[in-house]
Amino acid sequence: LRAKRMRLGIQVYNDRLAHNNTVEVTLRSQLRTALQQNQFELYYQPKVWLSDGSLAGAEAIVRWNHPDEGLLSPGYFINLVEQSGIVHAFTRYTIDSAVKQIKKWDSEGTPLSVAVNLSAYNLMDTAFIPFVEKALFSSGIDPARLEFELTESATMVDIAVSKRMISAFNLLGIKTSIDDFGTGMSSFAYLRELDVHTIKLDRAFITDVVHNAKDEKIVTAMIALCHSLGIEVVAEGIEQQDQAALLKKLNCDIGQGFFFGKPAPAENIDALLATQQDISANLTATRAAER
Ligand code: C2E
Ligand code: MG
Ligand code: MG
Ligand code: MG
Repeated sequence: LRAKRMRLGIQVYNDRLAHNNTVEVTLRSQLRTALQQNQFELYYQPKVWLSDGSLAGAEAIVRWNHPDEGLLSPGYFINLVEQSGIVHAFTRYTIDSAVKQIKKWDSEGTPLSVAVNLSAYNLMDTAFIPFVEKALFSSGIDPARLEFELTESATMVDIAVSKRMISAFNLLGIKTSIDDFGTGMSSFAYLRELDVHTIKLDRAFITDVVHNAKDEKIVTAMIALCHSLGIEVVAEGIEQQDQAALLKKLNCDIGQGFFFGKPAPAENIDALLATQQDISANLTATRAAER
């Protein structure tokens, strides 16, 4: 059953693992081996242009194929990774994997942007920029294909450092998004300080947006503010068609969430890309026929 669920890309929730200190100690001790043995795998979740439903990109979200516990979501281990010395090696691994996948999609004629989640610690790592530069150079991918997601709390650790790092990403041609936007204490200060390409409205604002007039007003205002600053807006956690329809009406640029697709192995994106190609081929054919 577990193998089947994994193949289907369904998250396996392991209740036994939740809030269990002994298990935490065990997992912590296994991180390094997990990295060496490629037990971490990137899943990809689609991002969709709300205007026409076409694929805007994918977010790389890590899973741990644990030999005893099965497929683990980052909630079980990202904190452990961040508290341990492997966080730098871990992020390098995720970036290398994402770059490989970008290259693969490029070579298959289905170019796609991929966003990688960073940790606050990566921003403090003086070797990070040279590493990224090398990853871009040796792969030869278009830097615009790679995006970084930074949570508000990560950028908050040291705003001056965040500002410098985001400028460096911009110089390399890598777009940066602020993840889980609106959950932090001084969200608007970031918009002032940080030269980001995109903000991702946290799921908290999206869950009730259809039924809660206040949420709708807040979302409307955040979209207008970001657009006036030239920042693109993604809505996270879209689970229902009516949420997607409302966000489109509110001029939100991009949607992401279970309604469009759960994080799943790269092959699931391949399937989406294939349908997109069919759609655009049909459109081209129809337009040609109309002329
Ligand atoms: P995130 O970057 O905000 O990623 C989205 C999370 O929300 C994922 O949870 C995803 O499964 C979930 N999600 C997406 N759409 C929906 C929806 O419609 N409804 C609901 N209920 N949930 C949705 P996940 O996989 O548990 O990841 C949690 C967090 O772990 C991520 O949040 C991200 O901050 C972190 N993370 C994931 N991969 C990495 C990584 O490679 N490196 C680092 N540093 N952090 C990572
Ligand atoms: Mg993210
Ligand atoms: Mg997010
Ligand atoms: Mg979120």
